[in-house]
Amino acid sequence: RERLFAGLSRTRSQLGGKLKSVFARGKVDDELLEELETLLLTSDVGMDATMHLLDELKRRAKQDKLEGAAAIQQALADTLAQMLAPLEAPLQVDSHKPFVIMIAGVNGAGKTTSIGKLAKYFQGQGKSVLLAAGDTFRAAAREQLMTWGERNNVTVIAQESGDPAAVVFDAIAAAKARGIDVVLADTAGRLPTQLHLMEEIAKVRRVIQKADPTGPHEVMLVLDANIGQNALAQVKAFDKSINVTGLVLTKLDGTAKGGVIAAIARQCPKPVRFIGVGEGIDDLRPFVARDFVDALFG
Ligand code: GDP
Repeated sequence: RERLFAGLSRTRSQLGGKLKSVFARGKVDDELLEELETLLLTSDVGMDATMHLLDELKRRAKQDKLEGAAAIQQALADTLAQMLAPLEAPLQVDSHKPFVIMIAGVNGAGKTTSIGKLAKYFQGQGKSVLLAAGDTFRAAAREQLMTWGERNNVTVIAQESGDPAAVVFDAIAAAKARGIDVVLADTAGRLPTQLHLMEEIAKVRRVIQKADPTGPHEVMLVLDANIGQNALAQVKAFDKSINVTGLVLTKLDGTAKGGVIAAIARQCPKPVRFIGVGEGIDDLRPFVARDFVDALFG
């Protein structure tokens, strides 16, 4: 929780600190609502979520006769926590063996780093993990994954060159043969506008299904929180081609745009499985709505 608190310091100082001065008015009047609107929009909360939060605050102000900064802040925090609660759905990997997780996202979003963190996380739960080096475009990505695997005693299935779908197919076969619990399949970074690459990742998904008709059990989109509102377009585009079942929101520690999670909740809700709050191996946290809101409001 402390790490989360420290990690969200930028968003908090952008949003939380200023909220306090807005709420200092002590009553929910037009001026407060206007200032709050501006503040939420500049924190990447997005128009739709902002309007919902303002409407709820007005409703509660009337119903509960909100008075004083603390009560108003509490009402907003509660509303936000309610909005984010549906995104809180921790990933359970016991339903299948191996549980196949496919990782997607644009270049630099934090896929490879998150795979390392996830491997450590699942190992910490007593699970065996196998990595599939499905980013066959960048030799450096394969190397990065292999080095990481060696250091942590995790098997990495890789091929010198070739077809990402074939690598992932082999990895699932190897995981079955070895009785592995969790397969983490990396894929090359791509933009939603690169249609041939979107078609390629759709093929990776189909091949996973061929290797295991129940899979993939999780299609995880990794999003860099710094992209703010662009996250919505990425979720929608990747969802269209590979049917996204969960999100990882990375780099929340380096951004003031943590509010984008509220926009996701309203406009393209998907479970936020984990949030990244630093570069270190332990800087990945399961998403807990209430903790997140508390860390924002400080
Ligand atoms: P990929 O291209 O999607 O595989 O991205 P990488 O995993 O290589 O990550 C790109 C950069 O982002 C690296 O320098 C990572 O250390 C950094 N990174 C990833 N996740 C986080 C995070 O949660 N916080 C911070 N501060 N940096 C991160």
